[in-house]
Amino acid sequence: MVSAIRVPRDATNNVAMNRRLSKAPDRRRRAAPAATVARRIGAILRVLRREAPGWNAPIVSFISIQTRDPFKTLISCILSLRTKDQTTAAASERLFARAATPEAILAIPLPTLERLIFPVGFYRTKATVIRGICRDLIDKHGGRVPDEIDTLLTLKGVGRKTANLVVTEAYRKPGICVDTHVHRISNRWGLVATRTPDKTETALREILPRRYWLEYNGILVAFGQTICHPTSPRCTQCPIERACPRIGVIHSR
Ligand code: SF4
Repeated sequence: MVSAIRVPRDATNNVAMNRRLSKAPDRRRRAAPAATVARRIGAILRVLRREAPGWNAPIVSFISIQTRDPFKTLISCILSLRTKDQTTAAASERLFARAATPEAILAIPLPTLERLIFPVGFYRTKATVIRGICRDLIDKHGGRVPDEIDTLLTLKGVGRKTANLVVTEAYRKPGICVDTHVHRISNRWGLVATRTPDKTETALREILPRRYWLEYNGILVAFGQTICHPTSPRCTQCPIERACPRIGVIHSR
């Protein structure tokens, strides 16, 4: 266990109180003051950065680093939605071995495309979405993946999570990709007190120092898949257990 992080003295460190707060509506829960966030998150990320090499990198980050290709980052992110990383990895490999550009994917008949990406979640819908994105990229963006969140959001099937992941992972531009892991853990830490990932993104944009934006998603996703699980987090093995108010955690290991 790492003891470098000091336990905050604020009331949110009281687990019993946190459990009561977790059942209260948003308006009764309070996020940590912005002034304390930089200090706390800096200490937490220092510890998690040290531990992260022992965890599996999130699949889309891995593909992005391996390929340095914004198109593959975008398409693998679409494939990864509601899909396990192993399944996404295999489907991405099959698809990109056959077609790795918008033009090449559009040349694949829809049933073949569906077969290539099966069994990712909602594979039929995703095949249609991917073809639509490829068509839009060619018709409206010169075949290039946009590097601005607002422009990416004009692509049908691209939501805030995907848009943020593409600009941060593929273009190394500022953004905060909030998926279920980032949403859950940011709330457990008491950095935010929000009900939805979109609200978490808005809150984090206000309080999270920019120097942490690019790494925040990758570290928290790997941490969430390895230790801070959704239903029963491994708190006894957690390297930041002493710094965590465990807001909303009812069962843990
Ligand atoms: S594993 Fe437990 S102690 Fe660690 S961050 Fe998650 S909720 Fe907090």
